[in-house]
Amino acid sequence: MSREQRLLADAMLGRLATYLRMCGYDTVYAPDAGLTDDDDIHALARADGRTLLTRDRELGARAADAVVLTSKNIDDKLAELAAAGVELSLAEPCRCGNCNGRLERVSPTTETPEYAPDPAETDVWQCRSCGQRFWQGSHWEDVAGRLAGY
Ligand SMILES: [Zn+2]
Repeated sequence: MSREQRLLADAMLGRLATYLRMCGYDTVYAPDAGLTDDDDIHALARADGRTLLTRDRELGARAADAVVLTSKNIDDKLAELAAAGVELSLAEPCRCGNCNGRLERVSPTTETPEYAPDPAETDVWQCRSCGQRFWQGSHWEDVAGRLAGY
């Protein structure tokens, strides 16, 4: 599955959605998009050409290319995704882990909020939609380590 593939993560897969965004996938998380009804979820998947990721067998069975995950544990879910052909490795930051918005590199002279490092010293990205700053810090390293086995 190429990084161009757009994804739709069903409820309960929020953490997985964050990881997939860090891998560069355009990933909508159904509850964030206000999608609770099965028909609405399928309608968006079809309209956007998104591959549905779900733990709900019935929901998954209704889409030709859905990936149905059976594990509860995050590592096992990642293994299931890898087995389904989803490439799992971190990409240059391009998608907001919070909202799936596009990230852009912050210029070294920009003022940054307290929680983020100085962009003159560290590469920092900002979400165009929600404004959240990202950098390749300890959380990034943790996720990189978690994904290293796939
Ligand atoms: Zn955002």
